[in-house]
Amino acid sequence: YGDPSQKIDYVFKVVLIGDSAVGKSQILARFARNEFSLDSKATIGVEFQTRTLVIEHKSVKAQIWDTAGQERYRAVTSAYYRGAVGAMLVYDITKRQTFDHIPRWLEELRGHADKNIVIILIGNKSDLENQRAVPTEDAKEFAQKEGLFFLETSALEATNVEAAFLTVLTEIFNILN
Ligand code: GDP
Ligand code: MG
Repeated sequence: YGDPSQKIDYVFKVVLIGDSAVGKSQILARFARNEFSLDSKATIGVEFQTRTLVIEHKSVKAQIWDTAGQERYRAVTSAYYRGAVGAMLVYDITKRQTFDHIPRWLEELRGHADKNIVIILIGNKSDLENQRAVPTEDAKEFAQKEGLFFLETSALEATNVEAAFLTVLTEIFNILN
């Protein structure tokens, strides 16, 4: 997971947003440390983790910010969004309400963040297919309409987590190059 001595060509700040308990912290744990916990505590304090990866022979340090249990509407402060070049908008495929709240999160994001921010919509917990409450097509359609990337992930099974981050980071990289 990255050679700490290597020189860094880019640092990209990416923010995780979405309702509480959708799996934001576990997605981050999977990406940054390849870890997962089934009884993860609510996140305390604004927190970010980093992982350095190579994109087209350049080293890119991804600085991923996780909310501090401020997931109530409008509780996430503008400092959280400041300087972000990417955002991951996460819902839980087994909880319809967390998908229904996505337009609010998007509105809040667009109100605070840079207008060129790269956004991916993420339907997490794809391992719980038998409890699915949000059809893939609904999310795909919404993402298309809003111009967002879209993937379903499982932090538990490590499905598409890497792909989701790479989608965002590569797109940011391409915009800058
Ligand atoms: P956050 O509040 O959005 O940061 O959510 P957490 O990352 O704390 O996760 C909330 C709960 O969902 C925890 O019990 C996690 O173990 C669980 N969880 C997170 N991701 C997944 C997943 O992909 N699949 C399943 N089955 N559970 C998950
Ligand atoms: Mg959390």
